Amino acid sequence: MKSGFFPDPFARLASRILISVTAATGFCSAEVNQVEKIAEDVYFHEGDIKGHGHCNNGWVVFEDYVLVIDANFPSGAREILPKIKAITDKPIRFAFDTHHHGDHAYGNQLWVDNGAVPIAHTGVVEEMKKYESGYFGGKPGRWEEAAKSRPDVASSKLKPPTLLFPSELIFDDGKHRVELHHFGVAHTHGDGFAWLPREKILFTGDACVNGPYNYLADGDTGEWVKTLEAARKLGATIICPGHGPRGNGGVLDDQQAFFMELRKQVKKYAHKKPEEVKARVDAIKADMQKNERLARYVGNSLSGQVEKVYVEMGGKPFGNKQAAAEEHWQHAEAHGRELAQKNAR
Ligand SMILES: [Zn+2]
Repeated sequence: MKSGFFPDPFARLASRILISVTAATGFCSAEVNQVEKIAEDVYFHEGDIKGHGHCNNGWVVFEDYVLVIDANFPSGAREILPKIKAITDKPIRFAFDTHHHGDHAYGNQLWVDNGAVPIAHTGVVEEMKKYESGYFGGKPGRWEEAAKSRPDVASSKLKPPTLLFPSELIFDDGKHRVELHHFGVAHTHGDGFAWLPREKILFTGDACVNGPYNYLADGDTGEWVKTLEAARKLGATIICPGHGPRGNGGVLDDQQAFFMELRKQVKKYAHKKPEEVKARVDAIKADMQKNERLARYVGNSLSGQVEKVYVEMGGKPFGNKQAAAEEHWQHAEAHGRELAQKNAR
């Protein structure tokens, strides 16, 4: 915009605010727990992460059935089930788990009870075999841990997805098309995306979040950047992230830029001792917060995120478990505060 377009200082300031709002990606102000129609027969629902640890959901009403994106926690499934039923009386046939985490997959049994089949990339079951040892006949795993503090989990049971796809699965009734894709390792080793090519809408699960919700422990940041690159090539104009408000295609760019910058920052100290890297965390944080696009991704879990990337680059974990505990705290908070308190004890 040419300078002098806004003659007085106030208008110039207003124009700057306008420009920065337009340039800032991702801040569509949908409210938590509200159903938002984002295209004909396509809905987005931002979950209450702070209060209940819920993830975001989407659903698409096809000619004969409904496909739900993410099973959520059991309490999150209960939150949206009546909202879907208020919109359509078509049967809910499929619930797509974008990955294996509790806030995206623990509600599976509720969807099954309502007639749906849980679907996921094959990697989701592989991840469950790793972390849900209780279900697979071993020692108590994550489900049992979550059940200690979440009555909704305690009163349900783990139901791994039973309809699995190795790389993609397509739903197409001539009017609507949803493609489920696995582009590689990102937030986990089983992330799936739901892509609506006609509407250019992309549901990302936690491979892309919009806010300080990145949890790195089950993924790999180097691979994550590549997976986001593949997702960016789709050319989505609406991004429905796993957590945080929906936004335009720039949300994917910002999420990727966050990891690229984090890796760049950590790489500078990759050859140093763990305690030296740990001592740099505040400086890295301050640096990243200065970047307008990245600031909203920088939260209290940065220490754990720095440590994870440092370990990926060949470093040893930070001596005391503080960083990992902090990151775990953040993730646990995303899964409900009670759980965080429990794990902190
Ligand atoms: Zn997750």
